[in-house]
Amino acid sequence: MAKRVKKKRATSRRTRQPKKLSDLFHETLKDIYFAENKIIKTLPKMAKAAHSRELANAFNKHLRETHGQVKRLDQIFRMLGKPARGKTCEAINGITDEGAEIMRDFKGMPALDAGLLSAAQAVEHYEISRYGTLRTWAEELGMTDAAKLLQATLAEEEATDQALTELATSVINLEAEEEEVSEAA
Ligand code: FE
Ligand code: FE
Ligand code: FE
Repeated sequence: MAKRVKKKRATSRRTRQPKKLSDLFHETLKDIYFAENKIIKTLPKMAKAAHSRELANAFNKHLRETHGQVKRLDQIFRMLGKPARGKTCEAINGITDEGAEIMRDFKGMPALDAGLLSAAQAVEHYEISRYGTLRTWAEELGMTDAAKLLQATLAEEEATDQALTELATSVINLEAEEEEVSEAA
């Protein structure tokens, strides 16, 4: 008897309203909204932990940009006539958990900054993936203004990723190696 009831529910679930690209766009917007707000809480901790002044400056600069990115998302929610609301993104929670682990395990160690950089780049790559997708979907949905806003943020995330790569190759990784050499000597 109980089994039959369950089956009936499953059928009615399948016959509910079809979910369209516009629904997916809205869901993904909530995902990145959650992620950006999580990043606003995380970047100050990373800037505080960084040994290199240059790296701390890079994190603080991107924190200011991130506030602007949240404002762009607010604008897009308004365009949709929906409340600006996030939905838990387990991916960004996982990436920032890894960053926290590095901060804990490498506290005061020469390789800390290299670890912070790697964590930050994982965040940027997640964002680049999401914003690339959202920009393209906005275009397909005919939301030209939203597409422009998403493209502006995408460009900031890509520039941040490149700036971090330059810092990694020019300063941080070298510093980590030098300190290891001088410790070994
Ligand atoms: Fe961002
Ligand atoms: Fe997500
Ligand atoms: Fe970012």
